[in-house]
Order: sequence, then C-alpha cells, then structure tokens
Amino acid sequence: MLSKANLINPNKVHNAFKNISTTAAATCYCAKMSFKAFNSTMRPTILSVKDLTKTYRSGEQTLTVLHCISFSLNEGDSCAIVGPSGSGKTTLLGLCAGLDRQTSGTVSLCGIRIDTLSEDERARVRNQFVGFVFQNFQLIPTLTALENVLVPLELRGGKVDEKEAIELLERVGLGKRLHHYPAQLSGGEQQRVAIARSFINRPKILFADEPTGNLDGETSQKIESLLFELNREAQTTLVLVTHNLELARKTARVIRLKNGTIVSDTLNERQKEPFNPTTI
Ligand code: ADP
Ligand code: MG
Repeated sequence: MLSKANLINPNKVHNAFKNISTTAAATCYCAKMSFKAFNSTMRPTILSVKDLTKTYRSGEQTLTVLHCISFSLNEGDSCAIVGPSGSGKTTLLGLCAGLDRQTSGTVSLCGIRIDTLSEDERARVRNQFVGFVFQNFQLIPTLTALENVLVPLELRGGKVDEKEAIELLERVGLGKRLHHYPAQLSGGEQQRVAIARSFINRPKILFADEPTGNLDGETSQKIESLLFELNREAQTTLVLVTHNLELARKTARVIRLKNGTIVSDTLNERQKEPFNPTTI
C-alpha cells in the first residue's frame, strides 16, 4: 500500500509539496471563483506568457535559451510546440507549468501569476490545475506503477481512489503491470505510467513533453486518442511538445520554436473554423 512515509522518505522532492502556504490556497480559491464567473460562451485564458526569457549562467558565460516568448491559450485549446532539438521546447514547457523560474517575463496559469510565487506555492498550483508528462518520465523508482499514479492524489491530501488509477492504467494498456516497479517496465511502459499519472488529478491543463516519443505506432495512436478524449470531454487544455507530425497535425495550433524564439504560430487547416469541441 502507498503510505505517506513511503512517499516522503525515499524522495525528498515531494517535501516541496508539503508546506503549502495559505497565500497560495487563497489565490487558488480566488482563481477558481473567477473561472466560474466567466460566461460559458467565452473560453477563459488559461495560460498567458509574456516576454518570457530564460538565461543559464555557467561561470563567466551566459546562454539565453528563450528570447521574449509571448503567447496565450484559452481553456480547451490544443497546441503543439515543435522545433529542432535544443530550440528550448522543454525549457518553455517547464516555465509554463511552474516547474522552473524564468529570468524575466511573466507566466499566468489559470489566472494566477505563477512567476511571483514561491516554489511551494507553485507546487500547490500545479497539483490543483496541472498535469505534466516529463520527457524522461520521472517516475519514483521505489513505487509501483499504481503507486506512482496515485502520488498526485496523495499529495492533494483528499480521498485516494485506487479504482480510478487502475482504470487509467488499464486505458493506457498496463492493466497487467499495476504492481511492477519502473525498473521492471520498458521505456514505453514507463511513459504510459507517466501519462496515467498526469491524468489522475483531472488537470485543467496538461503539458506533455514528447508523450509518444517512446511508443510504437499502435500504442502511440492509443495514447493520442486518450489525450484528445481528455481535451474533448473534460475541456482539458493540451500543450504537447512533439516531433510526431501526425500528433502535431491533430492539435488546433502549432507553435514552432527555433533558437529560443517563436518563428511561427499557426492554426491547423481543419481547426480554422469556430471552436467546436466535438470536431477536434
Ligand atoms: P529542446 O527541448 O527543444 O530540445 P531544451 O529546452 O531542453 O531544448 O534546451 C534548450 C537549450 O538550453 C539547450 O541548448 C540546452 O543545452 C540548454 N539547457 C537546458 N537546460 C539547461 C541547464 N540546466 N543549464 C544550462 N543549459 C541548459
Ligand atoms: Mg526537450
């Protein structure tokens, strides 16, 4: 069984989620209220990025990997971020999800300015609104597949419903791998556990970094269907970093990065008609 001790001790990373300030809780509450206040015919902005720059320092040298990035997404949008290796896609995704801190610029997620929050406060916002699939999965090695999927629910502190986690693992084709540890799973299987984990909190926005990068054609298609079902049924906003052109073609919008700059931001042909969630 998954216990708190099981979660906290082997991976101190989770301590970041433990001490949640009341400021963040209040901010989240206000943001939720303002979300509800929106007219249902108008989809609210869920992500707004303005003049985002990220610079890494290494000794005397500075390397700017993102230059003045600005864009916004509405609730229910689907967007692919594409571009050559090293163009800044993973860095951008991490900043948008509040996993990392920008050098300058602002990021608002679900109406909350996450760039000004502390690490713990950002962790709270992520747990409440965000699903994230890491390029390298980041499963906890000491937990089984099922326990890994349950982690976000444990951190939220509410009721932990194993049934939903089992259903998600079945949907990604891992019904027979519930009690396997990450080391006992293939790369593609670990990726599917990471995808199931990202869905468990019913996120308002899902960021996925190369979510089909380790999957064969058939499994990749299943995962794509699952992602777009989430987008369609729960109005979850999708932000997908991908080299998979088939996947990028299915999103409503494609942002192309090159050397840390947006070089194009286009709507896919069949998405140019007015928004209709049933046609995506
Ligand atoms: P992509 O996902 O498009 O392949 P990344 O966002 O991972 O690109 O990386 C963009 C650039 O930032 C790369 O040149 C990479 O070497 C550099 N970079 C990423 N993380 C760090 C880091 N922690 N320190 C220094 N440079 C980094
Ligand atoms: Mg990357």
